Amino acid sequence: MFRSLHMKLVLILVLMIISVMAVVGTFLINSVSTFYLDSFYEQMQSVFTGDTILSMEEAAAETGADGLRTIVDAHRSRLGIDDYRNYAILDGQGRFLDGSNPNLTLMRTSNVISAMAGGVGTRSSVSDSMMDIAVPVDMDENGSVDYIVYIVDDKQEISDLSWRFFQIVMQAMMFGLLAAILLSFLLSKTITTPIERITQGARSIAEGNFDQVLGVQSSDEIGELTRSFNDMARRLKGTVGEVQGERDKLSTLFLHMTDGVAAFTTDGELIHMNPATENLLGVRVEDDLSFDEMFADLDMPNSDETAMRSFLTSEITRRGRVLSVTLAPYGALDGEGGVIAVIHDITEQRRLDDARREFVANVSHELRTPLTNIRSYTETLLDAAGNLPLETEKQFLGVISSESERMARIVTDLLTLSKLDYGRMELRMTRFQLGDMLRNVAGAMKLTAEDSGHELTVDTPDDLPQIVGDRERIEQVVVNILSNAVKYTPSGGHIRLSACAVPKNRVRITVEDDGVGIPAADVPRLFERFYRVDKARSRAAGGTGLGLAIAKEIVEQHEGKIALASEYGKGTIVTITLPTDLAANTGEEPV
Ligand code: ADP
Repeated sequence: MFRSLHMKLVLILVLMIISVMAVVGTFLINSVSTFYLDSFYEQMQSVFTGDTILSMEEAAAETGADGLRTIVDAHRSRLGIDDYRNYAILDGQGRFLDGSNPNLTLMRTSNVISAMAGGVGTRSSVSDSMMDIAVPVDMDENGSVDYIVYIVDDKQEISDLSWRFFQIVMQAMMFGLLAAILLSFLLSKTITTPIERITQGARSIAEGNFDQVLGVQSSDEIGELTRSFNDMARRLKGTVGEVQGERDKLSTLFLHMTDGVAAFTTDGELIHMNPATENLLGVRVEDDLSFDEMFADLDMPNSDETAMRSFLTSEITRRGRVLSVTLAPYGALDGEGGVIAVIHDITEQRRLDDARREFVANVSHELRTPLTNIRSYTETLLDAAGNLPLETEKQFLGVISSESERMARIVTDLLTLSKLDYGRMELRMTRFQLGDMLRNVAGAMKLTAEDSGHELTVDTPDDLPQIVGDRERIEQVVVNILSNAVKYTPSGGHIRLSACAVPKNRVRITVEDDGVGIPAADVPRLFERFYRVDKARSRAAGGTGLGLAIAKEIVEQHEGKIALASEYGKGTIVTITLPTDLAANTGEEPV
């Protein structure tokens, strides 16, 4: 109840009024009592002067107590004798002889005792229930007190007056309290209403409505508070907007990144997971899996505690893909923290690593064989030191020469591939007649084919469109494919080189043979470097295993496609599709 500012204001004002009235009332009543007491003694002293006392002594000497009474009666009005104030004539021992009220209850006060001893008793305190004065009368002046004139006031008048004051103070207090309540309403209107408006505004901001602007109605502290509030709301809106923008950016990144990201609490409960995580791990958010369920096969240190506190990278395999999982702790682990798992698909990287390793092993192997041959034949020649028959020497030197040629071919092919890989192979683009080029190549190959007992036919239409490309490289590809057909076709085979225009401004070159063919399982790997179906046959025929790989790179650099179809034991068809207007794409000037 006393929580509201209004009630606090009422309480403060009421307490203030009560305390002020209590102080004022007490001070007033005390002052009245003191004033009354002082004026009583002043009044008494103005009556009991030296002359009055002398005349009292004379009267007492003449007629005793009666004489005294006559004198005191004469001063009755000056002494203020009435219902509340009486006088009494006492003897030297303080006994009552006569007085204004015969029923007066007489007490032996300190003043009476002083008078009995010969002094005038004029001592009374504000707190006493009455005030009095006792004047000794020594009629024969021998030092012994014969009579005492005693005036006593029962303070009834002061009590009445004090009671009246008390009533006035009470009435004033009632008015004061009423005024306090009214004033508190007024104060609450001027103080609490604006504060309530600011409170409302703050609540509304807490609900996310940052467009709050409160009207500033005064230039006092409340007005200043309202201004500061509006300023705060404006800044808050800006800051929240910035934070929101950052959050949106992050959430877009989170949604569309290819790496998986999943956040867990320290208890392993899933908080967030992006779509990439679902794809990579093959799980769904709805499954609400825990950390342990999601990464049951993750190779982690024994203690979960360690895993939660330090960065950790491990690998798992899911659905045939190799995934690298990095765990990173965030926040305070004993409170609002947890761990974030970043999942990266490294299958391709692994495949490339494996391919690179295999390639290096292949290169070493391919080079070692001719090198071993060269070394052993050279050593034999050196050991024999001219003792071998000339024919044998010639034969040995022939082997050395052909093996070095093979090494040179391998190195040249590797260099070509490396240039193609790193884009350092500049294509010299020209526009040329494809038909002419194919007929030239076939012409050059004819002898080789015939040597092997093959029949090589060329079938190119006269209206074959011109194409744009690096003539020399395309020639290299066709020669390679044709020589493969020659190499892998048993003597007496048929090889057909043809070309035709196909839709979308393309031409297709086809090389068909009815040779050994390739088992279906090997076909997909033929364009890999050093991949050979029959190694011995390839080597014997002077192959490097790099021909098709080079052909594929060159064709692809021309934005074309190369494909191989084969039936084991029946023959092989290689098709090369090339665009006719590549110059427009490459920006090269057509010739
Ligand atoms: P190579 O230098 O060994 O000929 P290639 O890359 O040109 O290397 O060819 C790869 C492999 O493909 C060959 O070793 C061979 O086994 C197979 N091959 C290529 N063309 C044919 C074909 N026309 N007939 C049968 N096998 C072929």
